[in-house]
Amino acid sequence: MDNAEIADRLDAFASLLELADANPYQARAYRRAAESIRSTPADLADLVRTGRARALRGIGPGIEARLRELVETGEIAELAELERELAPGLVGLGRYLGLGAKRSVELAGALGVRTADELREAAAAGRLRGVPGIGAKTEARLREALAREGEPRAPQGMLLPRAWELVGAVAGALDGEPAGDARRWRDACERLAVVCSVADPAPVLARFAALPQIVALLERAERRAVGVTLDGVPIELIAAAPERFGTALLRATGSAAYVAALEPLPEATDEPAVYRALGVAWCPPELREAPFRGEPPVLLREREIRGDLHCHTTWSDGRATVEEMARAGSERGYDYLAICDHTPAVGAVPGLTADDVRRQGEEIAAANERLAPFRVLRGIECDILPDGRLDLPDDVLAELDWVQASVHGGQRMPRREMTARVEEALRNPYVRCLSHPTGRYINRRPENALDLERVFAVALEEGVALEVNGLPLRLDLRGEHVRDALAAGIEIVCSTDAHSVLGLGNMPYAVATARRGWATAASVVNTRPWPAIATRRARR
Ligand SMILES: [Zn+2]
Ligand SMILES: [Zn+2]
Repeated sequence: MDNAEIADRLDAFASLLELADANPYQARAYRRAAESIRSTPADLADLVRTGRARALRGIGPGIEARLRELVETGEIAELAELERELAPGLVGLGRYLGLGAKRSVELAGALGVRTADELREAAAAGRLRGVPGIGAKTEARLREALAREGEPRAPQGMLLPRAWELVGAVAGALDGEPAGDARRWRDACERLAVVCSVADPAPVLARFAALPQIVALLERAERRAVGVTLDGVPIELIAAAPERFGTALLRATGSAAYVAALEPLPEATDEPAVYRALGVAWCPPELREAPFRGEPPVLLREREIRGDLHCHTTWSDGRATVEEMARAGSERGYDYLAICDHTPAVGAVPGLTADDVRRQGEEIAAANERLAPFRVLRGIECDILPDGRLDLPDDVLAELDWVQASVHGGQRMPRREMTARVEEALRNPYVRCLSHPTGRYINRRPENALDLERVFAVALEEGVALEVNGLPLRLDLRGEHVRDALAAGIEIVCSTDAHSVLGLGNMPYAVATARRGWATAASVVNTRPWPAIATRRARR
């Protein structure tokens, strides 16, 4: 058993403990141990056999005992028992069908079924009707969902980090390629897919069905299967013949509209060969939304980013100090990092007053002395008050290197007022960038009512850049808006809005979102060295 397999078993155990409503700390402890095992270069089975497993972070005597059992017998007895008791396959299927975990288990118990196939048979035989709590409407919905073939979609779009983790793990275990919405870096992924190149599909389909992430199969054909996770998320596996792998990968990457416009697709072993045969230039997956057969631009690349212009520290709601964030930025290879903590109006978390801003300035100056030539910039994420004024006086803003303006409170304002509020802030001569312009949280909070066209016009007039915020829950501006902003002649900034050292690692999400908006390095402010940004224009 290698480290990845062991870690996967611990993760599965954690999921079942959660499902059983066990002590949540226990589940979390198993997840932490799994993470620790994945990241160690040492062979875990070896450590267990020689009694050294507890040297790893997150492994205490309890987990060590489980690990010994797993390494010696290939199984954890309690895990197997929980699996029997809780029927994770039915829970996953139930969630996919829109039922809660408890409801799924009750349904399975009432029908006496143990597998997805048995549930399907029971539904086909009309036995759902006899189950307490299942009305005619629910029955019809379940039967329809069970019979649905072809293109299963996640019930709610999955955020990119989880989608990548899941698709990456499945692709890694099966030696396949990630495809679907994640490969196009869609902000909320509904289609999760992996494509493998195999002459004989049977072994890879069997391995797929046995993966710890897959609790049940929704469909199975000769070269295709759809599995479902414990959370009810369907993942598609395509086992393509090697001579057709490129074609299958292009199709499984989508989008449906983009692919349909290229059909009929010629068969080829890799994607570039498919494009060559079509006489169409290879297209970066991020651009494959609307039909397109043209020559794509050279899109922004992550390595072209010279610094991060939006992050937080312990001065507001960040978890690391100015110096820790700065060192982390420097280690990422950046030339500069702007510290942009909150101002008092943000409310829920601490914000910096004028006095705090000046004291923080001294700390930043000291960090600069230690870290030169790396440049720590004095920035602020200044709240835009409901009337459009900024939360700090102009003379304080004038001292700073980089001012981001943000709407946090009062987001339900009517469109006219919200637009006027943002416009007023953009007119402030010290504002350099509008943070997360639309204020959305993916799946949780809609975009603010804001006339973006008007915002673009004012931003252009005032020379203010718009942010592409890389927090996976935000991704704001999103791709379509980036494209509109660039067409309007506005520059963008790719930022992480990091609240920890780890958070600085979200830059790929900001970059991918900018790429989805067709951004090239030339229109991204932070691809330039700091002096070029500092003197970009003389404000009034
Ligand atoms: Zn913010
Ligand atoms: Zn922020």
